[in-house]
Amino acid sequence: MLSHSACCSSQNSTKFDTEVLIIGNGPAGIALSAFLSGMHPFYDAKHPHENVTVNEKLMTNLDFSLIDQDLSWSSNLTELSQSGRPLSVLFDMLVRPGADMGSDAPGCLQWEMNRSREVPHMVIGETKIGGSWNEYDPEMLTVSFSDWMDMPGFTMNEWLGGRPLVKRLPSVAIATYLKKYVEKLKLRKKFHQYFGVQSIRKVGDVWVTEGKRSTDGRGFRIRSKQVVVACGKTSPRKLMLPNEEHCSSNIVYDVRTLKERLDSTKKTVMDDEHYSTPSTSSAAPVIVVGDGVSSVDCVRHCLERDIPVVHVIRRNLRELRNVMLSRLSPIHYSEYTEVYRMMIGRSAHKNYQRILDAQISSISKIHAEITTGAQEIIEMPYSTVAVCIGRESHFSTVFETPPTFLDYRSPEDDTLYGVGAYAGDHFVRFLVGGCLRVAQHIYAGQTTVCINNNNKI
Ligand SMILES: Cc1cc2nc3c(=O)[nH]c(=O)nc-3n(C[C@H](O)[C@H](O)[C@H](O)COP(=O)(O)OP(=O)(O)OC[C@H]3O[C@@H](n4cnc5c(N)ncnc54)[C@H](O)[C@@H]3O)c2cc1C
Repeated sequence: MLSHSACCSSQNSTKFDTEVLIIGNGPAGIALSAFLSGMHPFYDAKHPHENVTVNEKLMTNLDFSLIDQDLSWSSNLTELSQSGRPLSVLFDMLVRPGADMGSDAPGCLQWEMNRSREVPHMVIGETKIGGSWNEYDPEMLTVSFSDWMDMPGFTMNEWLGGRPLVKRLPSVAIATYLKKYVEKLKLRKKFHQYFGVQSIRKVGDVWVTEGKRSTDGRGFRIRSKQVVVACGKTSPRKLMLPNEEHCSSNIVYDVRTLKERLDSTKKTVMDDEHYSTPSTSSAAPVIVVGDGVSSVDCVRHCLERDIPVVHVIRRNLRELRNVMLSRLSPIHYSEYTEVYRMMIGRSAHKNYQRILDAQISSISKIHAEITTGAQEIIEMPYSTVAVCIGRESHFSTVFETPPTFLDYRSPEDDTLYGVGAYAGDHFVRFLVGGCLRVAQHIYAGQTTVCINNNNKI
């Protein structure tokens, strides 16, 4: 039997043993840790959901938490099944009924903390608690409204002491909330920061996870019965051009680095007495690649600094009319909708040029070659290329055989799970429901163990 958090040092390697090891300390790792610590949701009969079937089903199990009841009926509901992730959507609609229609109706769940239900677990991550939220530009406003970022049982509003006056908060507020959440729920001891995982293998019934701590370079080995991968998608996708590495000093892959670079260039220019170019507008442009919110942030930061931008977009005009940006309301997302209007040609700016149906086909340290769908080739000088074409994870390579997941669990080994962005739940409002599903699996396994033990006695 594995003992919980038994920790001993042997020479230069630290060993821990636990029941469930969660790898990744972002929103997904944190939400799952809360569930496994006993923070459980119950249907609140005083706030029935307007969907008749959902209400009827949940009313029959009022004494059981959502973790301890069968919610598989959710995959038969048309409203939920179309999403492909019914439980994530069900959870979201119970916490925030009508949120997409602008409703502020109270949620249909109440939360109870029952520490006697705790499943021994550890949460490790390469970063500080909060995962990717520590890495974003701290001033970036979230796409999600603040109450869409809630973790189980202690909301953003509770942390803030009331509903914020603005719907969208800067990312630094989310990173702080996630840390305060872990403290508030007294989960801190379960979290081990700066642990980078390098390999995971199965020895008999035991998962052996090994890696290094970035603080002191010491190795660790953790033995656990179950492993949950909550490692997000933290590597930016690259252009995959042969010369890309060689030009890396002129290419950035996120908004924060572009901003720092633009500001440091501006400072150097201002500091240098002998610098004679009057405006950065006459300099080579920044090329921004991509059509998501990060690419739009890059465009914005350039225009705000009077720096010319060439925006390279793979989609054609027809496709561009259906991207996520097209659905954002100008009331809440004016900074995005203004740039989107330029992307679709509805408005113009002297420093903005778009090239649709196009991609960078080769790159040198000062020129990028842009090829359009009509096979036109444009040779473009540039100062910086900002590539914002999504994120991926290379985490699967730490396994001997890269795992697959179905319903958040490996079909090959039912003690291995994936949650959060790594498992395809990119937004916090949906990933908590995925964690609920994994908690269901883990608690169901515990019950089996209990029943077996009782039978033995
Ligand atoms: C620019 C940007 C803006 C976004 N805005 C929003 C928004 O407004 N609303 C929203 O809901 N979502 C937003 N997202 C998505 C957001 O990142 C996810 O919602 C969320 O962070 C995913 O949580 P996670 O726990 O799955 O992963 P992450 O937060 O990425 O955490 C994963 C953790 O795993 C760790 N890890 C990875 N590999 C290893 C390893 N080998 N060893 C140890 N630890 C490892 C990482 O260090 C990290 O700590 C945004 C994303 C980006 C890029």
